[in-house]
Amino acid sequence: MNVFVLNCGSSSLKFQIIDTDIEKIEKDEEKILAKGLIERVGSQSLITFKAEGKAPFKSATPLRDHKAALNYIIKWITAPETEIPGINGLEDIHAIGHRVVHGGERFKSSIRIDNEVIEGIEDCIDLAPLHNPANLKGIYASREIFGPSVPQVAIFDTSFHSSMPEESFLYAIPYQIYRRFKIRKYGFHGTSHRFIAYRYRLITGLSREESNIITLHLGNGSSACAIKGGKSIATSMGFTPLEGLMMGTRCGDIDPTVVEYLAHKEGSSVDEVFSILNKRSGVLGISGLTNDMRDLIEEWEEHKDRRAKLALDMFNYRVKKYIGAYVAIMNKCDAICFSAGIGENSPVIRKGISENLEFLGIEIDDKLNEKAVGGKEMKISTPDSRIAVYVIPTNEELVFARDTVRVVLGHPLPTR
Ligand code: AMP
Repeated sequence: MNVFVLNCGSSSLKFQIIDTDIEKIEKDEEKILAKGLIERVGSQSLITFKAEGKAPFKSATPLRDHKAALNYIIKWITAPETEIPGINGLEDIHAIGHRVVHGGERFKSSIRIDNEVIEGIEDCIDLAPLHNPANLKGIYASREIFGPSVPQVAIFDTSFHSSMPEESFLYAIPYQIYRRFKIRKYGFHGTSHRFIAYRYRLITGLSREESNIITLHLGNGSSACAIKGGKSIATSMGFTPLEGLMMGTRCGDIDPTVVEYLAHKEGSSVDEVFSILNKRSGVLGISGLTNDMRDLIEEWEEHKDRRAKLALDMFNYRVKKYIGAYVAIMNKCDAICFSAGIGENSPVIRKGISENLEFLGIEIDDKLNEKAVGGKEMKISTPDSRIAVYVIPTNEELVFARDTVRVVLGHPLPTR
């Protein structure tokens, strides 16, 4: 079965075509047939596509909207010269999986898209005004282009965290406000945390119930998740992806009073303050240099830039704080798993985070840590480390494709 996986941002589209079915899922034998990215939809768009085993195709052309971008992708996929094995026309795409950022309290797992589901996703726009409309554009365009015969599935960033208990997801604000406006922690990166937990179980041979781990998705957006008995019981992102760890440009945890104070002092609107907290804060805000962790580390190592070091230290400090908090609430923690761009590639950051955590039973092996780069899945802790430490590359697209297959074929979804 060829599954077209689509991840739409406000001005970008990312896709993969994955050859998969239930047997291939069970054997871990899926194949990526093609993938690609269109950036700057709405103006002169930048295109990078790649079919398996072939040189990348790059281009720049104006694409008006998401539908035009999707049509462009389809034209490329089905062009004879692209030569994607098994894909000759639109009829060779058998199902579509859409990443949807916010499923609110309603969507607790992936679901086949129909009019009612679309309405449900539309109802969540208030909760994710930047993301859900973009995801919906991809859904509307795919329905128009592929027609009703091609099943489409929504996979939500929030659903993995729907297992969080009330004491974890509630903010300490009047309960009626939660009830009325659904203001609570939802958590994001759920597909990634879920995939890392699944890989951990495969590596260790432990069952879901036996898995008690902390997953660290450290990328441009970062979040931590406490997974107890296979279920998310706490996560660092909250009502929006602004809460929690320090990120590339996002501030993470902050006293909400700062918003009012800054708006008052600067004479700016609440929107302007949130723009600062979302786009000009975090690693970029502290270093004043970059939101890119690789460049930041280079600035520190080569030029000894003080604020680059401060940003690195703050980033590590926040992650450490969450590890401590999660170890405390989990009662039992067997492993910490690093993932995403920074977690998978940066021995410096992993070492900085793990340093001085020996008292918690966390000890990494420096040589193994140095080796774990470029997509390697491996254990990096010493044999004596009471809490094991792993590097586990994430693969959200694979989860999108797998959920799509299971939903379409009516196979039970893994509950967590
Ligand atoms: P992601 O959002 O998961 O794609 O991760 C992007 C982040 O990973 C950026 O901040 C990159 O600088 C960072 N990253 C990628 N490779 C490395 C590396 N070798 N060392 C440090 N950070 C890296």
